[in-house]
Amino acid sequence: MIDQVRSWIDGARRVVVLSGAGISTDSGIPDFRGPQGVWTKNPLAEKMSNIHYYLADPEVRKASWQNRLASPAWSAKPNAGHAAIVELEKGGKLHALITQNIDELHQLAGNSPERVIEVHGTMRKFMCWGCGMRGPMQRVLERVRAGEEDPRCRDCGGVLKSDTISFGQQLVPEVIDRAMHAAGEADLFLAVGSSLQVYPVAGAVDVARSAGAKIVIVNAQPTPFDEIADAVLGGSISAVLPAIISSSRISSH
Ligand SMILES: [Zn+2]
Repeated sequence: MIDQVRSWIDGARRVVVLSGAGISTDSGIPDFRGPQGVWTKNPLAEKMSNIHYYLADPEVRKASWQNRLASPAWSAKPNAGHAAIVELEKGGKLHALITQNIDELHQLAGNSPERVIEVHGTMRKFMCWGCGMRGPMQRVLERVRAGEEDPRCRDCGGVLKSDTISFGQQLVPEVIDRAMHAAGEADLFLAVGSSLQVYPVAGAVDVARSAGAKIVIVNAQPTPFDEIADAVLGGSISAVLPAIISSSRISSH
């Protein structure tokens, strides 16, 4: 099956990748939703990720800022799975990279930011709930390190948060539209490390399939789309992706 998928990808011209938490677990970033997930283990973590609790309760915000300071993502490095998707772009095949991840490891690995569609935002930026201002997260974390427990916007006094989509918060319609549009242009749709259970993003699989794309799923656990996929590959993502994606260096020789 690996060889089959590899030949499909070799022959594809517009690959759209949808990545989820599973691609980052080999970089040491835990999967929040999985059976060993942070939310499953810590009910306060779930509260911190809910916009209503976050806006209403300074204690939830204080805990959230400490949590952001301690995030494993700050020291995480992209892995071989991320690198394989960079090869896809170097080979001129990557049409779009839709990601549910907020860690920016795709960009750190070398994918062009303009190819990456971050449907859940990014933890590397902050945003002000009051005025919508955005900037580098580290700038606010510096204030937390210096002793501010619940830093506020210096322009408007509003509540600051990470520039991510919390539970209870709307997705950004323009971003979702862009993701669906790209999915509809794929000739091969590669879903990697996503449980494909969160809508509307999971709907990108249907959009791509309706447009005639081959569907390849790489995930450790079964997904609701396995039945309609052309290929389903389990196992370690950081091992499987390099095996199905030829490096552009090799294919150009
Ligand atoms: Zn503000």
